[in-house]
Amino acid sequence: MSRIAIYPGSFDPLTYGHVSIIDRGLHVFDKIIVGIAINVRKTPLFSTQERIDMIRASFPDETRLEVDTFEGLLVDYARQRNCQVILRGLRAVSDFEYELQMANMNRKLDDTIETMFMMTEESHFYVSSGLVKEVARFGGDVSEQVPDHVEEALVAKFEVMKNESDAITSEE
Ligand code: ADP
Repeated sequence: MSRIAIYPGSFDPLTYGHVSIIDRGLHVFDKIIVGIAINVRKTPLFSTQERIDMIRASFPDETRLEVDTFEGLLVDYARQRNCQVILRGLRAVSDFEYELQMANMNRKLDDTIETMFMMTEESHFYVSSGLVKEVARFGGDVSEQVPDHVEEALVAKFEVMKNESDAITSEE
């Protein structure tokens, strides 16, 4: 039986922290499905398609990696895709409580699916999509936190947003 893990998240955008979890996960599992959660309450910076393309571009030849999206309950999607494991990354202690709650809730919903955690690499301890966006928005260097193509996409995205807001200001 092949061991398939679902690695769920927002990936808005993909960081080296995510890349590391995927790389290391591929040593443990036969296949990883990166599941981009479609969350109606969060407005992402990057569209779903942009996020899919960014992840694929980081693993161009990896046949054991699939990128997909899901809506609704994670355990329902995991069951549907025959995943035995939910893979999550852990950084600081601050991740712990939320992750514990979620893992317990998911186990109540379906106790045949196990949540497994991988500790972040030391060098990725402070890397988060949120922080990367904050820094890149103001022109800061994020080349150590995200792959080159993601950095380019961030620069382009904030450029477009700046031009749009400049256009609105000059109309006023
Ligand atoms: P979510 O909104 O579900 O937290 P993210 O895209 O932020 O989605 O994260 C997806 C998963 O990747 C989570 O398990 C998160 O803990 C993990 N992760 C994010 N950044 C890092 C990092 N720097 N090192 C290890 N794991 C990480």
